[in-house]
Amino acid sequence: MIASPLSRLFAGVALALTLFALPAAAQEAADPAPPPRPLRWSIAIHGGAGTMTRTAMTPEKEAEYRAALERGLAAGVAVLQAGGSSLDAVTAVVTTLEDDPHFNAGRGAVFTWDGKNSLDAAIMDGKTRKAGAVAGLARTKNPVLAARAVMEQGPHVFLTGDGAEQFAREHGIPEVDPSYFYTQERWDQLQKLKGQNLSAWDVEGKYGTVGAVAVDDQGHVAAATSTGGLTGKRWGRIGDSPVIGAGTYADDRACAVSATGTGEFFIREGVAHEICARIRFTGESPKVAADTVMLELGEMGGDGGVIVIAPDGQSAFSFNTEGMYRARANSDGLKEVAIFRDDGPGGIAPPKVIEPEPVAPVEPAPAPKIEPQL
Ligand code: ASP
Repeated sequence: MIASPLSRLFAGVALALTLFALPAAAQEAADPAPPPRPLRWSIAIHGGAGTMTRTAMTPEKEAEYRAALERGLAAGVAVLQAGGSSLDAVTAVVTTLEDDPHFNAGRGAVFTWDGKNSLDAAIMDGKTRKAGAVAGLARTKNPVLAARAVMEQGPHVFLTGDGAEQFAREHGIPEVDPSYFYTQERWDQLQKLKGQNLSAWDVEGKYGTVGAVAVDDQGHVAAATSTGGLTGKRWGRIGDSPVIGAGTYADDRACAVSATGTGEFFIREGVAHEICARIRFTGESPKVAADTVMLELGEMGGDGGVIVIAPDGQSAFSFNTEGMYRARANSDGLKEVAIFRDDGPGGIAPPKVIEPEPVAPVEPAPAPKIEPQL
């Protein structure tokens, strides 16, 4: 049968449509599944790392610390849930923990050798990489607010002592009498250090610095850290917490980090920036980057922990101590509060010297018995 011109035209159009449609269909089949919806927001906080063991803590103390961490976390979650910025969220967490005498920051800060409180804090905005830091404050109620004023209202990054306090005062940051920071427990720790000739490292083996990292629904990260430093510190010693790149760092291209621990080692390793740099240049996950840097810190002799958050919402804890006061939450309903190594994520083994496995002596195989052929 000879096809009419009209049916030949229909057949041609159908063939052309099929040919055009084929590559599109093949393309669809080859495409990977769309990436999972990124988290709308995510937050992680810490209240210090150190020798927290179940035997060294009463159930009452444990409950108090868990409740304190819950309050800190809730302050940040409230900001993020309402669509607020990561910068506001970390500020809310850190001011809440500074006001809480359980932690070594703001009220409850440790005492210097001279029996004073000397407070340090830093904050960083991952969107602009603007940062503010203060050290050696004695009257500013919430040092993190002073750090934020430095970041947002002045040309500098890092102010110390009377000058920092004057700047904070001129920018309306509330002050208190220095006695506000006093707690009996911290005072007793200083007396113990002096009486027993202990060093700043071994008086309590706990670093009660507070910190927060967060990412908001715009994908911007931020970090903040606040501390009283180390019990019995002198000579104007300042640790890592207010040092941008050591105890605090935030960069939308990588992550936000807040640290706690033996500050001198965190400064020497440049821990917070090092973690962000690894993520940025090697594509490592926050957990892998944090564990790698914390292992290096441990090899140098340092201890403590970090919290990390990435713009996609991934969060990580990493610490080489017995425990770390820590908590996190995200817009997918995750909520964790943990203290010890075994009740939550993050603990990494302290570095060990790896001894070569002893090689078992090899028994010589018995010689095969060869029967003489007859
Ligand atoms: N990292 C702080 C410092 O060295 C101490 C702490 O984490 O509690 O000042």
